[in-house]
Amino acid sequence: MPTRKKNKQIKLYGIYGVHTPESCPVTNTEVAARLVEWFENTDVDSILGKYKIDRILGQFHSPLEHSLLWVMEAEDPHLIQKFCFDSPLASFHTMKIVPMTTFAQVIQSAKKNHSL
Ligand SMILES: [Zn+2]
Repeated sequence: MPTRKKNKQIKLYGIYGVHTPESCPVTNTEVAARLVEWFENTDVDSILGKYKIDRILGQFHSPLEHSLLWVMEAEDPHLIQKFCFDSPLASFHTMKIVPMTTFAQVIQSAKKNHSL
């Protein structure tokens, strides 16, 4: 059986989440307690390696849209999914994980694809 060489390949992902106004941690005490308990008892940076998440580049939230966008460098979107379920995030958000590139990479691809 052929074996595949396991190269560490870090890629950029956007993690999008949306919750209802009723499940917002700003106004829902039960959700807030769960989220705060996890955050205050978890050294997030120290558990990222378990999910092959190299680093979190940004954690952005839109309170009035009840949405979030976290941007991270990681190896495996399935492990990002596990991170979302192991944390409280997936318990009150509908989430998606989107592969991303930088604007510089878009320009590079456009130049290459169109011989510019
Ligand atoms: Zn909210």
